[in-house]
Amino acid sequence: MATSIQNISLSGKKKQVSNKEMTFWERLYLVAIIKGLLITIKHFFRKKATIHYPEQVREFSPVYRGKHTLKRDEQGRENCTACGLCALTCPAEAITMKAAERKKGEEHLYREEKYAEIYEINMLRCIFCGLCEEACPKDAIYLTISKELVPAQYDREDFIYGKDKLVMPLEVAMANTQKLN
Ligand code: SF4
Ligand code: SF4
Repeated sequence: MATSIQNISLSGKKKQVSNKEMTFWERLYLVAIIKGLLITIKHFFRKKATIHYPEQVREFSPVYRGKHTLKRDEQGRENCTACGLCALTCPAEAITMKAAERKKGEEHLYREEKYAEIYEINMLRCIFCGLCEEACPKDAIYLTISKELVPAQYDREDFIYGKDKLVMPLEVAMANTQKLN
C-alpha cells in the first residue's frame, strides 16, 4: 500500500503542520506569549536539576572512583616500572611518561630496575574509564575511592598531573602496611 508523503512524520509528532490562515487571536500572539510564560513559571517552581558547584557538591555513589594514585609497595617503593601499557590502553591518550634506569642505592625508592622518571596524566583528557588500572601488570595505578574531584583551574597546564600529585604519599603507604600487619 502506497504511503502519502504528507502522512510521514519524521519527528514522530502527530500534529500536522497546516497552512491555514491565522485567526485574529493567533495574529495577536498574546495567547501564545501567555502560554509560553506559564510554561516558564511552571518550571520556576520545579526542583532544579542543576547545582551551584563548587559551593554545592552532589552526593557521590559509595563506589565512586576518582583521581588516580600511583601506588607504593609495602616497603614504600614505587610500583610503576614505566612499561607504558597504561598509556597504550588509554582511549583518551591522556598518559605520558619517561622511563629511567634505577641506579645503585635507589633500591629503596623503586621496586623494579626501571621506573617512571616522569609520569603525567592530562586530566582534561581523562574520562575516568579505569582502563589504565585494568591494563597495569604491576598493580601500580588505581582510581581512588574518594570524594576528591579534579579541582577547577584557570590554566590548562595545571590540569597536567605529575608524580608530585599522583604518587601515594609515603606515610599513607606505611600506614597501609601497618594495618596489614
Ligand atoms: S582513566 Fe581512562 S582515560 Fe583516564 S587515564 Fe586512565 S585509561 Fe586514560
Ligand atoms: S602504571 Fe602500570 S601500566 Fe602504567 S607504566 Fe606503570 S607499571 Fe606500566
